[in-house]
Amino acid sequence: MASCKTCSGRGSLKCPKCNGKGAYYQSGGPFSGGSVQQCKNCHGSGMVRCGVCGGKGQLK
Ligand SMILES: [Zn+2]
Ligand SMILES: [Zn+2]
Repeated sequence: MASCKTCSGRGSLKCPKCNGKGAYYQSGGPFSGGSVQQCKNCHGSGMVRCGVCGGKGQLK
């Protein structure tokens, strides 16, 4: 067993869609009336399960 390099053994990664914020502005952005949307990719947590190790943080 070895630590997963992709997630540094944590089993989770910063969400690429919202950049770890858990939310993002809908199209238009904050200056054109866009509203903040909870990120569906990570369900607002800002973290997603690492796909490389399946969330275990270790590789066989
Ligand atoms: Zn997200
Ligand atoms: Zn991993």
